Amino acid sequence: VDGPHETMRTAHELAAKLYYHVLTLTEQGADGREYVKERGFTREQIEQFQIGFAPDRWDSLTTILDKREYSLDLMVEAGLLGERESKDGYFDRFRNRLMFPIWDGQGKVIAFGGRTVSDEKPKYLNSADTPIFHKGQTLYGIHLARPSIRKEGSVILFEGYVDVIAAWGAGLTNTVATLGTALTEEQGRIIRRNAETVTICYDSDNAGINAAFKSASILKQAGCIIKIADMPEGMDPDDYIRTYGAERFKSDVIGASMTFMSFKMRYLRRGKNLANEAERMRYIEEVLSEISTLTRAVERDHYLRQIAEEFSLSLEALKQELQQNIRSNK
Ligand code: ATP
Ligand code: MN
Ligand code: MN
Ligand code: MN
Repeated sequence: VDGPHETMRTAHELAAKLYYHVLTLTEQGADGREYVKERGFTREQIEQFQIGFAPDRWDSLTTILDKREYSLDLMVEAGLLGERESKDGYFDRFRNRLMFPIWDGQGKVIAFGGRTVSDEKPKYLNSADTPIFHKGQTLYGIHLARPSIRKEGSVILFEGYVDVIAAWGAGLTNTVATLGTALTEEQGRIIRRNAETVTICYDSDNAGINAAFKSASILKQAGCIIKIADMPEGMDPDDYIRTYGAERFKSDVIGASMTFMSFKMRYLRRGKNLANEAERMRYIEEVLSEISTLTRAVERDHYLRQIAEEFSLSLEALKQELQQNIRSNK
């Protein structure tokens, strides 16, 4: 007899099959298919990522689980069902949503993410943590990506699973995503176990930029070499690929990704008028303060020269300034 965790896993497998079946073959999946078509997911993407649809009903999955004699209380604990407040029955937790199975590192379905196909809130409903699913220890897509991560020696990290799916459509398969929360140290370690170089490719909005800084520091801690991809303001990887195509995404976004320092410098520049002397000085001071945190002398030298050249300053003066900065860091 299976233990409760194994039962939760088989129930997730069953649910994934149901949702996939509904999306691909049934009348109840019509709204899902319409959404998928509008969004441009291909048949290959749907199959590869086992995308499905949860019907707009309260009892689809509940009925199936009940028929197969699953303990419905256990299914509530597994995050698949809810229990009515009156305690006289159960209901499907995911309804009228495009369903994305979330796998563990071995490729077992352990949770779901569901995107509304109308305007319902929340836009994404993800499984809460359960005995078999720990958000902070899970990276979306890792079991599919592992062979190409190992082959490339690098991984591309996204904010959303939809971005992973879009990247696969563009031919980039060494890709993973976090699940709607900040990157954890645990996830950083999982990444480092699989590859040394990480390209952070987050949404190009304030939330994404701030998250990129946080993730970079966690990944640095884990011993990764970090690059940061940069997209036009307001876009995310999926938007970019749909707007400009796979080739431009590969060459102009991933191919043009920057070192963490260059990214930081671009960020410090935003909203400053460098033709103005005071703002220019403030910028240089901020950059020097960043350079002073770099541990490798060659790296410090590289950026100092860059600043010296750009603002026609003497390298000597910058070095002196930097030494003062380093002393005050201690
Ligand atoms: P879409 O393109 O479908 O509108 P997105 O994937 O670009 O959505 P973002 O708003 O950029 O979505 O969010 C990034 C990721 O964060 C999502 O893929 C999802 O995993 C997670 N997320 C977003 N909104 C929520 C939410 N309300 N609750 C839980 N997770 C969320
Ligand atoms: Mn976003
Ligand atoms: Mn996004
Ligand atoms: Mn998006």
